[in-house]
Amino acid sequence: MAGGTGIMFDDRMLAHDPGPGHPERSDRLRVLHDRWRDASGLRRIGARAATFDELARVHDPGHVERVAATDGRPRVVFDADTSASARSYEAACLAAGGLVELCDAVRAGEVENGFAFVRPPGHHAEHGRAMGFCFFNNVAVAAAALRAAGIGRVAIVDWDLHHGNGTQHLFEDDPDVLYVSTHQYPFYPGTGAATDVGRGAGAGRTVNLPFPGGFGDVEFARAFDEIILPITRQFAPDFVLVSAGFDCDGRDPLGGLQVTPDGITMMAQSLRRLAEETAKGRLVAVLEGGYDLDAINEGVAKVLEVLRGTDATPPLHTGEARRADAVIERVRTVQAPYWTL
Ligand SMILES: [Zn+2]
Repeated sequence: MAGGTGIMFDDRMLAHDPGPGHPERSDRLRVLHDRWRDASGLRRIGARAATFDELARVHDPGHVERVAATDGRPRVVFDADTSASARSYEAACLAAGGLVELCDAVRAGEVENGFAFVRPPGHHAEHGRAMGFCFFNNVAVAAAALRAAGIGRVAIVDWDLHHGNGTQHLFEDDPDVLYVSTHQYPFYPGTGAATDVGRGAGAGRTVNLPFPGGFGDVEFARAFDEIILPITRQFAPDFVLVSAGFDCDGRDPLGGLQVTPDGITMMAQSLRRLAEETAKGRLVAVLEGGYDLDAINEGVAKVLEVLRGTDATPPLHTGEARRADAVIERVRTVQAPYWTL
């Protein structure tokens, strides 16, 4: 049956173990599996491992080989936050390949949109380097696969609390992939200044909204209304990818933003409407960060509600509109050469 919403998950991604006490733990996916595995009205898409060639579209082959070499070894440390267990390579391949598989199902019209429940996350992974809990850049692998399959323009909107340094760097000179990020700043990983706008043919195709700690629903709504939607509309993507992290939720133990689940609804609705306007509704969200289990569970439920068609306007609970004046003005100024804002 065509249309509807797909979810992609696979129990083998629970086996990635980044070490004792690590916030990126398997329970993050387990709560989603428990809630959605048998839910009615969703099409289940199974994962498959990304191929070497799919990974090497965005990663240095040497990096892919270094991660592959961890397979079966009890512990290989990449940096202070990022280490592989015996089954991490398998999980990382399934995260990237499963996302590609869901995107293919959307591209083929088997489902209109969907959500990929994955770990390890991806947006910090660089061309040649694992970092920030990430080994392969899942969303970048998917964007590159979509481009290779003939999709003209891909927009990646990243509302994870952290800046997606890897995603930005992988596409910063590519005119056909727009990368838009809201993130706490300054904060890990330190990148994501408003003045990073892309370079060469990709100038204007990187849009950063660096937010001080404390910003909530209202500031995010202004960012979407005044910057993100006007730019993405003008870019007119043929496919929308969402790096959906739930560490922007006020309950997250690592971050300092104050978004609520209704704020997540607002962002998801904005992007669903955009996808309907320019991309035949083709939208796929992929899990990035988020370390409070309730925040992940409620946030994913809100996104799925929107993807399945809920249209009610959510109330906004946190934040203060005028606090966003300065950052919105700064982003408007640096993006003015490229977009009508
Ligand atoms: Zn994050």
